[in-house]
Amino acid sequence: MEEESKSLPSKDNFSEWYNELLMTAQIMDVRYPIKGVYVWYPFGFSIRKKVYNMLRNLLDVDHQETYFPMLIPKPELLKESEHIKGFEDEVYWVTHGGLSELEVPLALRPTSETAIYPMYKLWIRSHADLPLKLYQIVNTFRYETKHTRPLIRLREITSFKEAHTAHETWDDAEKQVHEAMDLYSEFFTKLAVPFIVHRRPEWDKFPGADYTMAFDAMMPDGKSLQIGTVHHLGTKFAKTYDITYEDDKGERQYVNQTCYGISERCIAAVIGIHGDNKGLVLPPNASQTQIVIIPIVFKKDEGGVKDACQKVKELLRANDIIAVIDDADERPGAKYYKWEMKGTPFRIEIGPRDLKNNSVMLVRRDGKKESISMDGLPETVRNKLMDFQTELLNVARDSMMSRVKSCETLDEAKQQIENGWATMPWCGDKACGLEMENVVNCKLLGEAHTIKGAGKCPVCGKATDRIITMARSY
Ligand code: ZN
Repeated sequence: MEEESKSLPSKDNFSEWYNELLMTAQIMDVRYPIKGVYVWYPFGFSIRKKVYNMLRNLLDVDHQETYFPMLIPKPELLKESEHIKGFEDEVYWVTHGGLSELEVPLALRPTSETAIYPMYKLWIRSHADLPLKLYQIVNTFRYETKHTRPLIRLREITSFKEAHTAHETWDDAEKQVHEAMDLYSEFFTKLAVPFIVHRRPEWDKFPGADYTMAFDAMMPDGKSLQIGTVHHLGTKFAKTYDITYEDDKGERQYVNQTCYGISERCIAAVIGIHGDNKGLVLPPNASQTQIVIIPIVFKKDEGGVKDACQKVKELLRANDIIAVIDDADERPGAKYYKWEMKGTPFRIEIGPRDLKNNSVMLVRRDGKKESISMDGLPETVRNKLMDFQTELLNVARDSMMSRVKSCETLDEAKQQIENGWATMPWCGDKACGLEMENVVNCKLLGEAHTIKGAGKCPVCGKATDRIITMARSY
């Protein structure tokens, strides 16, 4: 078939497949003339819109959306020393306005703590103002020197959802950390993206945080992709930016803060985890179009196939299922190819024979095919979409878990991370952790859980309950 001539490289070569798919399926155009800066195609943006609306809906339950400026005055950015140490190599600076040099250089936000917290100082007065839970979805800029990659490692992150909360006590903020983790779990589950949450080791936490919890997904090449983080900031930033409230005894106290973020990497995870050699595979929740209806019309439109397609479309739409008809003047094979590339979950084929049988042919994106009755069609389709969504998650989760293996020696771990993740006991000492990273040539993602009597640290031999996950990472 000639329409298959533009086929993708095999997904076994993940990197090549990924880059080709982003262009062929029209998600990101990589031809913009700045390294690490890419353009959303309208189709790609439709996925972004769908996914971020889902995220907004989850947050809007008890957060408020806001917008802070992209420009941050240098003195504000430099105030929190640990924080700036984490970002100083990556900040873009605006130094001129027209031809004149600015008195105060302005940073393009690498993240927004230092834009937001000086305002929190003005906004928060008393315990009645707490908790404060705001979020924004904005672009951020980081001068990445590592190999850049669309949606994954960017100089302009286009879709950074960052939430910033303030609370009375450290425990209140800790409670918020858990609420944020629950919210993210729900979000990634809706995206059919399986993950493991790790408590990042001290040396890899967010600069300035008390601790960092991170959501890690496994990409097809076995590397980990950090897709979300939740940070307990304690009073660190409150002390730097002097954010205080008056407690019920009339005394001034520092607020305790959290922040948590998700970027377009969540879309990279959906693409990478579910796509196949024919293109994207989108979970129904993330796809703008859930059903494409394809009329199978021969020489003349026997028995009103096109009318029937129209009716089915209206029926599905009336039941909140997003269906479109592809009645372009192309062979059905060319249409299948096109919609499969775009990852549309289901297609419905309707031909004269289906009409005679009062049925339609339903084909799932994974190729499973069945004839279903016109009677009760919307309910049947809705249930099958839900099944498909659940199956995608289950298959991906099984695949991930089958590639996480507990290892006894560092040599074994080194082998294991070639195509998955390794878990090992770890005493908790930084020196031992760094040695493990060094020998295995990996990143310690952190602790997912502890097990009584987990074993002995492979470096110092101390008995421990801690288990650490090791992986190559993006
Ligand atoms: Zn040790």
